[in-house]
Amino acid sequence: MMEYRQLGGTELRISVLGFGASPLGDVFRKTEPAERNAAVHFAVDQGINFFDVSPYYGLTLAEARLGEALEGRREKVVLATKCGRYGDSEFDFSAKRITAGFEESLKRLRTDYVDLLQAHDVEFGHVQQVVEETLPAMRRLQEQGKARYVGITGYSLKNLMEIAGKAKVDSILSYCRYNLLITDMDQSLAPFAREHGIGLINASPLHMGIITERGAPEWHPAPQALRDAGQRIVALCKARGVDASEVALRFCLDYAGAASTLVGLSSLGHVERNLKALEMKVEPELLREIAEVVAPVKDVTWPSGLEENCG
Ligand code: NAD
Repeated sequence: MMEYRQLGGTELRISVLGFGASPLGDVFRKTEPAERNAAVHFAVDQGINFFDVSPYYGLTLAEARLGEALEGRREKVVLATKCGRYGDSEFDFSAKRITAGFEESLKRLRTDYVDLLQAHDVEFGHVQQVVEETLPAMRRLQEQGKARYVGITGYSLKNLMEIAGKAKVDSILSYCRYNLLITDMDQSLAPFAREHGIGLINASPLHMGIITERGAPEWHPAPQALRDAGQRIVALCKARGVDASEVALRFCLDYAGAASTLVGLSSLGHVERNLKALEMKVEPELLREIAEVVAPVKDVTWPSGLEENCG
């Protein structure tokens, strides 16, 4: 049975398992239209109502494909997209680009509003610009009824908290900060968000593909030791007769500090397997064994964004 949680102080009730749409843009592997559409339709039918995408994923492909797949189902979902990041190293947090870029996102998504508009990977921008220009531009889009709520996303916890301390945001999405390999979000960002009534979204429960049989994609920024730890978790779970990705997801679903956990999805099989994680229980003994495997690299991070924002 799907569970839903309130996203901070917003009126959005979102499924604890969220549909991360970046793989629809072929960022992990090439996907086919029939499997993409089947994955989205099945997810909606099974009660997954939270969908997260960005113009950056697959350089607009993921948005266009999600828009197509959601045709006729738009009102059943809480749709989140992003602005400010448009390529691997293409960032533009200016009001002009945010406003113009968002109109293009709406066209690709085949809708006239999104439920959540997020400034994407804010550690690549200057705090002052994000606070004084980007977020106010997004609030104007909110006033026009084109975005119901406004949030920020990123990797640097320090930077996310600095921005949210200076400008009001409705939600914060952080990724690779709470899963089997790392839990540092729980000591800093989570209490901060609770105190300020900000909704928290946890992304990348598989550490962007590290805790999977296939392993990390080429572009993954994590040091080798972390990738190796991921493969050791996979082997350990296999030896215990369970699927590591399901265990990893279950671990995140159990975390009440976040309203939703976004897992990257593009195939029916993965949607089915991840839905199974809603029903499963993980033996405490297995979690202890995993913790031992992870101990030497627990909470290891990598630099991301402008030097001044890292942390
Ligand atoms: P993830 O950790 O969820 O891993 C996704 C990869 O694992 C994909 O290759 C997927 O096909 C595969 N996978 C999914 N379920 C699986 C299963 N049961 N077994 C084996 N493999 C499985 O990483 P992610 O896609 O990076 O993160 C999820 C979503 O969170 C993204 O799609 C995006 O929406 C969001 N996100 C946002 C940001 C940001 O805003 N800065 C950053 C990272 C992620």
